[in-house]
Formats: sequence, structure tokens, C-alpha cells
Amino acid sequence: MNSAVQIQEQTRLASLDRYDILDTPAEEAFDRITRLTRRFFDVPMSTVTLIDGHRQWFKSRQGVSACETPKGPAFCSVVVREARPLIVPDATADERFADNAFVTGDPHIRFYAGVPLRTPEGHSIGTLCAMDTKPRAFTADQTDTLTDLARIVMSELELRVLAMTDGLTGALSRRAFRDELSRTFALALRHRHELSCIMLDVDRFKVVNDEHGHPVGDLVLAAAAAACREELRKSDVLGRLGGEEFAVLLPHTGLASALKVAEKLRSAIARLEIPTPRGSIKVTASFGITALDGSVGSPDTLLKHADAALYLAKDDGRNRCVEWRPATIAQQGIRRRVLKAGQISFNGGRSAIDCTVRSLSEESASLKIVTSAGIPETFKLLIESDGFSRLCRIEAKADRDLEVAFV
Ligand code: GH3
Ligand code: MG
Ligand code: MG
Repeated sequence: MNSAVQIQEQTRLASLDRYDILDTPAEEAFDRITRLTRRFFDVPMSTVTLIDGHRQWFKSRQGVSACETPKGPAFCSVVVREARPLIVPDATADERFADNAFVTGDPHIRFYAGVPLRTPEGHSIGTLCAMDTKPRAFTADQTDTLTDLARIVMSELELRVLAMTDGLTGALSRRAFRDELSRTFALALRHRHELSCIMLDVDRFKVVNDEHGHPVGDLVLAAAAAACREELRKSDVLGRLGGEEFAVLLPHTGLASALKVAEKLRSAIARLEIPTPRGSIKVTASFGITALDGSVGSPDTLLKHADAALYLAKDDGRNRCVEWRPATIAQQGIRRRVLKAGQISFNGGRSAIDCTVRSLSEESASLKIVTSAGIPETFKLLIESDGFSRLCRIEAKADRDLEVAFV
């Protein structure tokens, strides 16, 4: 990849990140569109696909069993790269795709029509596509119809970003929370008021979803947000920054009081009993706390400090509150949340596996992969867009997650 392409890919991933949609449950609003696509074009398969750093992930899928596949052979990744519709009437007769793993093997694609999901800034973050196991023709009119359906997908995504409150938890949306943060931050500076920020993230939430299903996961999120609201003052601001991550703004509150509030929130969440068909379950959350002081020049820095402290709380064993301290951070290295395309390289560079880098510090990184099978204990991590190359050792691994330390 040349550097212009890398920078483009980096901004593309940043705009995908803004929608905060990866790995979220299936939703009727999108399933309706893939059902419509399937019926309208009379095809067995249709997906709303998002192209991550290392994989294609389906927000909605009809007739396709996998929820994600590697990005390499993905037709949808060609659509995103070329940022225009791709119509393949017969993949076996098309030299670009005849040997493709998805043509020669499951799901045996013969016909493919995909159009980009284009953001208002012009980035292609994924596709809406129609597929068949038989060859077919697709007219220009049909491509236009598919493009219109893709625009509906995009406006659905845009509406979510614009919405002030999150439908599930009633917390402010990320965008609204950030607006409120900017306003409160400016006021606190001008009037020399105290201001604190707490960031919290439900612990091992993926396990809750995996073991009990997404609807139970949703109940947990709604209950956790309600428990927080119960403990907070009316003037405090609760926002949902992402999947299972929340932030609280405490105007007129210094660090010592914010720590007490965080501790109340922690114990309120830990006390929750969430009813499920298989009995009630319990969850915990980790907290990062920080307060406005002379060193904090922008609302972003305040959030970053809370986020870094939250990472320390996770590293320290979860279900705890950790305050931001410059010294501690310097020792441990601030973990930044990122969304970067990376490569896991081993075998003296002969083997390469795509990954998505989700967080990064001076000493460590967390990576998402399609499967951790076959990845050796040490390897080189490359992030082409940053000219980054470091030798890594696996510290922890799950099916699709790797925690690595740089050696
Ligand atoms: P950690 O303790 O390190 O935070 O682990 P974790 O499992 O909570 O963290 P991770 O970020 O790996 O997993 C978060 C999961 O949250 C992944 C995603 O499927 C799920 N998720 C995100 N949004 C929603 C939602 O709206 N509803 C449900 N049910 N799950 C969601
Ligand atoms: Mg979590
Ligand atoms: Mg999280």
C-alpha cells in the first residue's frame, strides 16, 4: 500500500469508528433492508457489511451463516476499496474472482452486486449487497435501486449519531455527551468551578452476550444505566459513549467527591440482580475518575485521562475505581483507543494475518482477529499507516482477541 492509500484507509476507519456499530447486535432497522433486498431482487443472500481493519462484519445478514469473515477474499472489500458499485454476473467466469475462496467454497457466490455505504464526507465504510449461488444479470436500474437502499442504511446510521439520547439506556448519545462536555468544560474554566468526569465500562460484557444472548445483554445495559441515574444528581450528566461504556460529568465536584460517587456507582451495579430465563445474573463495571486541574487544557484531555484511568482499573483486576494520576500513567503507558488496520507477521515475514488494532500504548496493544488459531506466541505487529513495526509477545488470548506486550 502506498502512503496516500494508507492515510485514506486510516480516515476511512476513523469515520467507521464514529458510528460505533461494529459487533453490535442485529437490529430490525437493518434486517428490514436486507430482507427487502433479498425479496426485491429475488436472491437468496443479502448483507449489510462493514469493512473493519481485518475483516468484513455483517450488521445484518440474510442467507449467510457466518457473522464475519476475513477481509482478504471479500467482494465487499473490493467495493469499499474502489468506492463504486461492483456487479459480478458470474464469478466463475470473472478472472478476478474465479479462484476466490467464497466462490470455490462456502457460500459459493456466483452472482454478486454490491454498492458502497457512503458517509456524508464521502468515505465508504461498507456495502449493501445482493448475492446468489447462480449467475444472473443486473441492470443499471437495479443498481440504482440497490444504491437507494444503501442510502437508507446510511441515513439510519446517521440518525443514530445525531440522536440526543440512546434509545436503550436513556443516557445521552456520544455526540450529545460530547457537546455537553464542551459546554460544561468551558463554564467550569470561566467560573473556576470544579468539574469531574467518571468513565465506566461493564466488565466481561462479551461473556454476558455470549452466554445469555444479546437481549439479556441489553437488559444489563439498561439496568446499569438506571442504577447509575438513581445514584446521581439531576445536574450530573450520564452519556453512553459506546457499546457498554458510559461516562458521567459531575459539575461543581472535585476529585475526592467524584471518587465517592464512582464507588457508589460501582457498588450499585455490583448489587444488581438481572432476571433472565435461567435465573438472575450479576455484573460488575470498572471506573476511571479524573478532575479538572491546571494540566487539563481541553475537554478531550479530560476524557482521555478518565479513559486511561479506566484502563488501569481493568488491568488491575476490574470491578474497581481508579483515579487518574500522571505518574502512574507514565509508568504504565497511556492506552489510546484506536481503530487501525494492522498485520501480524511471522515465519520471517512469510506469514501475514490481518488484524484490527483496538488500543495501543508504548508497551502494549489489543488486537482483534478472525481467529487466534495458528498465531505464534511472538510475532511482529505492523501498522503500515503509522510506519509502526514492533515485536510482540501474546499476554492473553481469546478466540478473536489478543492482548500483546511489546518486547
Ligand atoms: P472488558 O472487561 O475488558 O471490558 O471486556 P468486555 O467483554 O466487556 O469488552 P469488549 O469490548 O471485548 O466487548 C464488548 C461487547 O459489547 C462486544 C459487543 O458485542 C457488545 N455490545 C456492544 N453494544 C451492545 C449493545 O447495545 N447490546 C448488547 N447486548 N451488546 C453490545
Ligand atoms: Mg467491557
Ligand atoms: Mg468496552
